[in-house]
Amino acid sequence: MTIFVDSQVDTLHRRTVQPSDFEVWIMVCPRCDGQGRVVDVRILATHEHVRLCDECDAMWPDGTDLSITNFVDFTTYVKPLGLQGLWSEIEVVAGTD
Ligand SMILES: [Zn+2]
Repeated sequence: MTIFVDSQVDTLHRRTVQPSDFEVWIMVCPRCDGQGRVVDVRILATHEHVRLCDECDAMWPDGTDLSITNFVDFTTYVKPLGLQGLWSEIEVVAGTD
């Protein structure tokens, strides 16, 4: 019985540690003021690596500063590529699950 309780505590401990590790590199979206999280994604059609807010679809090309002044609307950005700006058109590289 003691062993069972110990292993359960260990599992709970791991669960509390992982999200805080996650927070370290999750970027909060400056456009929607903490509502969204910015994730690294790859546009499947072009293999371009960009950062995208999972809430408001603000997008920053790779290598640009994550700021309120230089975001691009994801849908606008991919329209010339013949895409609709759907999450099915991208692949999440890192970020939220
Ligand atoms: Zn946002």
